[in-house]
Amino acid sequence: VKIAKTTKPIKTVGTVGTVKMSIRNPTLDNFYSADIAIIGAGPVGLFSVFQAGMLGMSSVVIDALSHIGGQCTALYPEKPIYDIPAYTKISAANLISNLDKQNSPFKPKYMLDQVVNLISVDEKSHWILRTSQDNYIKSKAVIIAAGCGAFKPNMPPLEGIDEFENKTVFYNVGNTDIFKGKKIVIAGGGDSALDWALSLAEIADKIYIVHRRRNFKAMDNTVKKIEEISTGSGVIEFIIPYQLYEIHGEFGILHSIDVINLEGDIMNLKADYLLPFFGLKMDLGPIIDWQLNLNKNHITVNPENMMTNLEGIFAIGDVSDYPGKLKLILTGFSEAAVACHNAYKYVFPDKALHFVYSTNNPIIL
Ligand SMILES: Cc1cc2nc3c(=O)[nH]c(=O)nc-3n(C[C@H](O)[C@H](O)[C@H](O)COP(=O)(O)OP(=O)(O)OC[C@H]3O[C@@H](n4cnc5c(N)ncnc54)[C@H](O)[C@@H]3O)c2cc1C
Repeated sequence: VKIAKTTKPIKTVGTVGTVKMSIRNPTLDNFYSADIAIIGAGPVGLFSVFQAGMLGMSSVVIDALSHIGGQCTALYPEKPIYDIPAYTKISAANLISNLDKQNSPFKPKYMLDQVVNLISVDEKSHWILRTSQDNYIKSKAVIIAAGCGAFKPNMPPLEGIDEFENKTVFYNVGNTDIFKGKKIVIAGGGDSALDWALSLAEIADKIYIVHRRRNFKAMDNTVKKIEEISTGSGVIEFIIPYQLYEIHGEFGILHSIDVINLEGDIMNLKADYLLPFFGLKMDLGPIIDWQLNLNKNHITVNPENMMTNLEGIFAIGDVSDYPGKLKLILTGFSEAAVACHNAYKYVFPDKALHFVYSTNNPIIL
């Protein structure tokens, strides 16, 4: 099963429901094609890759996060899950790692760190998805496994912060080289804040951890290590109980941050970078505008085939809704199998689908 880049760029204008959408001239470099486009790399989207692969269909998986796993890796990687069939107990992170391994024969293309913000159709009734990184994906069927929506970082309510975002203010850390010898304000008291403080302490000149409470919501071991650095080399300094108050700088270059405590005392911290880690929120965002039938932020589907009101677009996992819906991973796995079997006729309209068990499936044997 191959992910092919299309041989020629296409220009397409389509409609979804009553909304007319035009697609700007994509170039070969940002145009991908696969049998099925899967929106969401949570456990359910990941299992869809396997189910699609077993039926000979290729897939592209797009996710807003920089890693696969959806809620399992973003919200509770270390927690044990007890209701995955045949596992007495498995951590959420290991479940995702196993799903990834199970998909490896099918070589899915993961397009991470990007939100699908547009769906359109071309003149041949192929679906065209556009992502926030201006990538285009052409597919014959779409599976929406978007959970409660795309994960987005909670942003601190600091006036003018947008001028600094992705220059000197980051909500997730990519290239750590830029922090060498710099002064960094890390805001937040959870695992992300403290894990990054610990790892950047090896290269930064100074790290201020700004947190509004005295207690941290992070692993005891991490807190202990940070306390040791703070009393030892002093690279890390706790600014507690304070919260972010004002940002100073110009043209996206940060100069300093004012922080404030409950008594109204303000302290100025000289800083080159601000890393706020205030958790993630989920936002159904653009999906709301795709002319899909919705029920309270969930996509209504026909449970017989998991199809939405749009032909060839399926919705599964937490985002889907039908009478009797159970929001569980195991239900989502079953929905993935149903959706893929029903997507087959859109991918191979001239072929009959003969049901085979995995034990006899020549594709995996
Ligand atoms: C603390 C906790 C414990 C849990 N314990 C259990 C348990 O024991 N057993 C169980 O069965 N379930 C449990 N759950 C629920 C389970 O995690 C969810 O049912 C499951 O994650 C749903 O999977 P999903 O693939 O449908 O969606 P998600 O895991 O939510 O993944 C959806 C993905 O889609 C992406 N996305 C959404 N919109 C877009 C877009 N437009 N563009 C790009 N990407 C997009 C999101 O970024 C996200 O990564 C638990 C949940 C929590 C929070």
